Amino acid sequence: MSTIIEMPQLRYGNGDLSPIISEETLKFHFGKHLQTYVNNLNNLIVGTEFENASLEEIAAKAQGGIGNNAGQVLNHNLYFEQFAPSPSKKEPSGALAAAIVKSFGSFDEMKSKMNAAASSLFGSGWAWLCADANGALSILQMTNADNPLRHNLKPILTFDVWEHAYYLDYQNRRADYIAALWNIIDWNIVESRF
Ligand code: MN
Repeated sequence: MSTIIEMPQLRYGNGDLSPIISEETLKFHFGKHLQTYVNNLNNLIVGTEFENASLEEIAAKAQGGIGNNAGQVLNHNLYFEQFAPSPSKKEPSGALAAAIVKSFGSFDEMKSKMNAAASSLFGSGWAWLCADANGALSILQMTNADNPLRHNLKPILTFDVWEHAYYLDYQNRRADYIAALWNIIDWNIVESRF
């Protein structure tokens, strides 16, 4: 019995993140783009060394089409799972908040570095807040389907800056999309990854 990669279950409906992420964008981005990566991955792993591997193992190790599709499934799962229509708090608390102050000086400085990484990434990719094995945080740009697991880092927070993530709602205004995303981050989910 081989691994079957499933679509994540979202805790919000397609229209619930509007206007920050519109219903139309969610229908295409979650329902079409992510579904396609999931379908491709399930087809590609059959008969390979990754047939019985977890999504995380595949995303960390596989090359070529399998690696690209697994990276995109992992990245999109993390992206879509970190949102809530009306988050209960506006910034993290506890251990993650302390690590942010230790690594960046302040929450606002971390936000500004994340905004800069997401805005300036050339082409398609992802901006990440990552943690190393010691809990030290860093902000990194990763192109295409690259992901923190390939760099022995733990993914904490991610902004998708492929054009398909924002073009229907923001056209070329990537910075406006990035600024708006902070309003729907569910810090309870993000803290649980740390
Ligand atoms: Mn995407």
